[in-house]
Amino acid sequence: MSTREPGVRRLVIVGASLAGLRAAESARRTGWDGEIVLVGAEDHLPYDRPPLSKAQLDHRTGDDLVPLRSRDELDGLGVTTLLGTPATGLDTDGRRVLLGDTAVAYDALVIATGATPYRLPGADGIAGVTGLRTHSDAVAVRRALDAGARTVVIGAGFIGSEIASAARKRGLPATIVERLEVPLSRSLGPEPGAICADLHRDAGTDLRLGVGVSGLESTGGRVTGVVLDDGTTVPADLVVVGIGVRPATGWLEDSPVALHDGDRGVLCTASLATSVPGIWAAGDVAHFPNVRFGGDLMRLEHWTNAAEQGALAARNALAGTGEEIAFLDTIPYFWSDWYGHRLQFVGTPRADEVVTVGPHGPGAIVLYRRGTQLAGVLTIDRPRDIMKFRRLVMEPGSWDEALFQAADRVTASA
Ligand SMILES: Cc1cc2nc3c(=O)[nH]c(=O)nc-3n(C[C@H](O)[C@H](O)[C@H](O)COP(=O)(O)OP(=O)(O)OC[C@H]3O[C@@H](n4cnc5c(N)ncnc54)[C@H](O)[C@@H]3O)c2cc1C
Repeated sequence: MSTREPGVRRLVIVGASLAGLRAAESARRTGWDGEIVLVGAEDHLPYDRPPLSKAQLDHRTGDDLVPLRSRDELDGLGVTTLLGTPATGLDTDGRRVLLGDTAVAYDALVIATGATPYRLPGADGIAGVTGLRTHSDAVAVRRALDAGARTVVIGAGFIGSEIASAARKRGLPATIVERLEVPLSRSLGPEPGAICADLHRDAGTDLRLGVGVSGLESTGGRVTGVVLDDGTTVPADLVVVGIGVRPATGWLEDSPVALHDGDRGVLCTASLATSVPGIWAAGDVAHFPNVRFGGDLMRLEHWTNAAEQGALAARNALAGTGEEIAFLDTIPYFWSDWYGHRLQFVGTPRADEVVTVGPHGPGAIVLYRRGTQLAGVLTIDRPRDIMKFRRLVMEPGSWDEALFQAADRVTASA
């Protein structure tokens, strides 16, 4: 017998990836026994994206997709999937998600449609040019690397950096073109960005900074080079565009669900409720005020966040009358792997001061101060230390304590 929200008999989750899957799993963990419908634009069962730019670019990897949960497991959870079925609109009066010519009714709805890569203007239809968001993108990139492609990555973000790393691992030429003078300086700050630049250079990646792309060269419909706005051309057989993503909310534009003025992500409360009762959002698509950081509005593109938010959104969607709605109370965390190094970040990089403790390279601990407190930490190749720092950000620890602990860790590992 369900002890949960009596009015909710059908939970619809739009977006069949990490946040959507975690929403379905957590709905069942509450003991609720209603109907769950998982709607996904891709043809596949939910799968993991981090390996797409890491292990799945390895030459030993096949084309097979390993889902996060098998069909049998989803059946066991009582989840009905509507795959290859993009939501096209939302009728909040009738409580229906529109699916082209059909529709699915909901009592509660979780929006988990993630984000879509920006495309390079003028690149459509040119073979050898791709983003990297889906399994089929990863297969295309891996096959190009298998064929020995000269790779140009546009944008020195985390995913772009992993792709350059995959090319260099095979001894293939890799170039990264980045408009900023220092890679990742907006997300990590100039000094850590410079450390990241050195990781690229040390691995033999040709890093072109402070320069944009003015066009592509192609022969017979296949890319042959990237023309930079300093007039040079970089030869290329594979161009991976990593210039950011936008929340996948086109289907919500005509609905009353409030979207962010800038990137059109879904605006949520700290409990992941949207502006429309009964509708919740989770994952890369959602903006939320982070109670841990003075209510800063955040939209994170991190695996852990998507997993945690998916679970919370469904729990709150099904909370019974009188039950407490939970707030998201967590410290952001992500990792990225390049050239055999592991970068890990906890907290927020929005800081008053950034200090690097230890080597300016592998082994670095970068601390971010807000007021008198520790707000964020970046480590390179310190997987054992990062979770201790996560706890310190969570407390939140004082800045002096953080400096002391970082120096202590560096000394201990010297
Ligand atoms: C290549 C790559 C590498 C990454 N590596 C890391 C990493 O190392 N560390 C880390 O912390 N994070 C990493 N991430 C980020 C992490 O994978 C994402 O934060 C996570 O996938 C977000 O999950 P999500 O469910 O919110 O959105 P998504 O995974 O984007 O899934 C959204 C789903 O919704 C579907 N959808 C979109 N529109 C509609 C619609 N209208 N109707 C129905 N379905 C729709 C999409 O097709 C998609 O399947 C990586 C991401 C990528 C792409």
